[in-house]
Amino acid sequence: MLKPLEQWICDVCGDVIESPEQGYVIWRSDEQYSDFSFKVIHQKKCDISEFPSSAAVEDFLGEAGLNYLLSFLSIGRIKILLGQHSGGSIKDMHEFVDFFRRMQTPYYEEARTKFSNHDLLEWFSDSNEVYPYQTEVLKKIISGSY
Ligand SMILES: [Zn+2]
Repeated sequence: MLKPLEQWICDVCGDVIESPEQGYVIWRSDEQYSDFSFKVIHQKKCDISEFPSSAAVEDFLGEAGLNYLLSFLSIGRIKILLGQHSGGSIKDMHEFVDFFRRMQTPYYEEARTKFSNHDLLEWFSDSNEVYPYQTEVLKKIISGSY
């Protein structure tokens, strides 16, 4: 059982990242400065040199992390008023929201390891897009009690 928002599954080696301090986030950008392929990894041990961008997992956690994550989605009101439009954007919004939830939504990290379960997918076939990611529902996914 993973500690919510304190432990993750490494996208490179598949082992548990035991604490935020051990975690690192890496990603790539295309020629249009669109960011993609966000991975949560063990710092140093699982780094991939083809991923030029990186930041500590801790940078994406809590209120400060929410602020950082939102800056990937928009340059924000002040920059817009200043007319300073930069080119960056998110290439694959579904992938980014998955990463966003791994950093901000309790129990998401462990529950997502079970998302491809056939019975689980059947259970959610009539649900809306909000319900599956509510805390109580994610706990049910983890315990298999649905
Ligand atoms: Zn690893």
